[in-house]
Amino acid sequence: MEQSVKIENLSFSYGDREVLKKICADFKPGMVCGLLGPNGSGKTTLLKNIAAILKPQKNAVYINCRDITGMTPLEIAKEMALVPQSTHIDFDFTVEEIVMMGRTPHIKGFAGESSEDREIVQQALETVRVSHLKDRSIKSLSGGELQRVVIARALAQKTRIILLDEPVSQLDIHHQLSIMETITGLAHEQNFTIVTVLHDLNLAAEYCDSIYLLKDGQIVCGGPPKEVLTFEMIESVYDIVCLVYENPVSKKPHIIPVHSK
Ligand code: ADP
Repeated sequence: MEQSVKIENLSFSYGDREVLKKICADFKPGMVCGLLGPNGSGKTTLLKNIAAILKPQKNAVYINCRDITGMTPLEIAKEMALVPQSTHIDFDFTVEEIVMMGRTPHIKGFAGESSEDREIVQQALETVRVSHLKDRSIKSLSGGELQRVVIARALAQKTRIILLDEPVSQLDIHHQLSIMETITGLAHEQNFTIVTVLHDLNLAAEYCDSIYLLKDGQIVCGGPPKEVLTFEMIESVYDIVCLVYENPVSKKPHIIPVHSK
C-alpha cells in the first residue's frame, strides 16, 4: 500500500488565533520532505497535526488515504513515528528500555517483548550508532546522544512514515551528516516517507528532495530545493539578505546569509 501523507486545506487555531491557514501538501514514499520557515511560522504545529498530537479538523490529514481523525492512536502508531523536538524523560530508564518503547504498538497485551523485538531494537541502536550506550541511564546522556536515541526509538517502531522535528539541531557536524544520510537512506533505499522540520537551509538543500517553505502559517512555496531556495524567496520569508550559489560538488543551492533586513 502507498505509504503517503496528504494534507488538504488544513487550518488550525490555538484558541482564536489561527496559526495554520489552508495548508495543502503531499508527502510521498521515497522522498525526504523538509518543512522550513522562520520561528513561529507553524512548522511544529503542522507536524503535531500530522501526528495527531494536536487534533486536526476532519478531512484535512490523510495517512494512506485514511482520514487521521477516524484512526485510533494504536492504528496511527503502527503507520507513523514521531521524533519530537525535545524529549524530557524523568525516569531512570536505560537507553535500551527507551528504544524498546518504540515496540509498544506491536506488543500484544501482556505478551512482553519477543526475541524479534529485541533484534529490531539492536538494529535501531546500530543504525544511529548508539549501541555502546545501551545500558546507560537515559538521564546521563548528552543532548546529542539523547537526540540519536529518540531517533532509534522511532526506527524501532518500524513504521514506513517518520516525522522528525529538528532531528539534528543538537548534533555536531559529523552526526548531523550521519543522521541526514540515515534518513535519506531510509527514503531512497527503503521507500520510507520522511517529513522533517529543519532549521539549517544548507542541510535542507543537500538532503531534502522537496521543501515546503512556511511563513505566518501558510505555505508560500513548495518543490525541489533549487526551485524553493532562491535568494528572492529566502529574503522575503526570512527577512534577510543572502547569496545563493551552486554547491560545486552536489550542484544543490548553497546559501550564504549576509545580514538581516
Ligand atoms: P515553528 O515550529 O515554526 O517555530 P510553532 O508551530 O511552534 O512554529 O508556532 C506557531 C505559532 O503558534 C507561534 O506564534 C506560537 O507562538 C504559537 N503557538 C505554538 N504553540 C502554542 C500553544 N500551545 N498555545 C498557543 N500558541 C501556540
